[in-house]
Amino acid sequence: MDIKSIRSDFPLLQECIYLDSAATSLSPMPVLNAMLEFELHYRANVGRGIHRLSQVASQKYWDAHRRVSRFIGGGEGLIAFTKNTTEAIQAVATGIPFSKGDTVVSSLLEHHSNLLPWMRLKEQAGITLTLVPPTPDGNLDPDRVIEAVREGAKLVALTWVSNVTGAVTPVREISQACRKHGALFLLDGAQAVPHLAVDLASTGCDFFCFSGHKMLGPTGTGVLWMKEPLSEPLLVGGGAVETVTSEGYVLAGGYERYEAGTPNVSGFIGLGRAVEYIESIGVRSIMEHEAALTGQLLDGLRDIPAVQVLGADLADRTGVVSFNVGALKPHDVAFLLSDEADIMVRSGHHCCGPLMNYLGLPGGTVRASIGCYNSSEDVDAFLDTVNRISKVS
Ligand code: PMP
Repeated sequence: MDIKSIRSDFPLLQECIYLDSAATSLSPMPVLNAMLEFELHYRANVGRGIHRLSQVASQKYWDAHRRVSRFIGGGEGLIAFTKNTTEAIQAVATGIPFSKGDTVVSSLLEHHSNLLPWMRLKEQAGITLTLVPPTPDGNLDPDRVIEAVREGAKLVALTWVSNVTGAVTPVREISQACRKHGALFLLDGAQAVPHLAVDLASTGCDFFCFSGHKMLGPTGTGVLWMKEPLSEPLLVGGGAVETVTSEGYVLAGGYERYEAGTPNVSGFIGLGRAVEYIESIGVRSIMEHEAALTGQLLDGLRDIPAVQVLGADLADRTGVVSFNVGALKPHDVAFLLSDEADIMVRSGHHCCGPLMNYLGLPGGTVRASIGCYNSSEDVDAFLDTVNRISKVS
């Protein structure tokens, strides 16, 4: 992997050290250029127009669907573009007819976006919500999940990779249990793509939700993959219908059914280009590169006496690393990293309030997260600065 050449595609890397890819990734120049090309040469609405620009835009938009689907091994499943992971999960929560007494199994490790939709169903539809607690190092024990599934569940909704600890959930065992006990399985892939090789057939999930903006694509892009299409879309309106009369409407088939209204056309064309960019590097190469940097980062943090890492010894993990520095507040550490060395990291509860309460970390953690464009020098600079900050704390 030619890291020098990759870095030259990301102009922002000349201005800062970016270790916040779990929040949103940076986009490389080919993605930005694809979006600009749309604006300059064929900006048009998609799916409706006959004129030349609309034909070109529609074809490119359609190509982006196909490319994203192929990238995740989408097979016969259907891909719908959404704003983000949050919207994709919401589409599942509203698209399945839940009734009183149905059970959803989720976990305390989840991002709020994979918790609130189920909490709302609990309040409004009277479902039962079972939240499986994580292990002390912030992982999910599949046996605990399977135990809950055995008791009966309509849907199991879990994150593939924790956005706090980077722990990788053992999804295969869980999906097998879901099959056996007749539960649907929603996998939140927001932190998985592009950090793991995704082949949906081998995960055995029914719904897969992820964010384009965390995989080198533009903000405002996300994806919902459905093994079997939901019958009810989140939104209805223009573009999502086959026919409309004053009496009623017939919804369109295909992805159009789930994409009412004008979509983020340039964004999804950019996302298609992001997939092409990732494929040109290779997910396996990205994984190797990120694993090496994560090892360097964890080893370095272990050598700083005041630092405690959450889930330091996780066997299966990605480059999302949460830690605290002595008694310093996480926000203070993040501020000092930014202020003193232009290093961007996250701090706080990372939209995982229940997890932080469970782990007894009300102030949350500092979170550094690796992207494919990070270098060993980035990690060295980060470790030097954390070390310095830890000494004045
Ligand atoms: N799930 C997980 C695990 C996440 O990390 C995030 C984003 N931090 C989300 C869901 C929500 O993603 P988005 O903000 O793109 O909707």
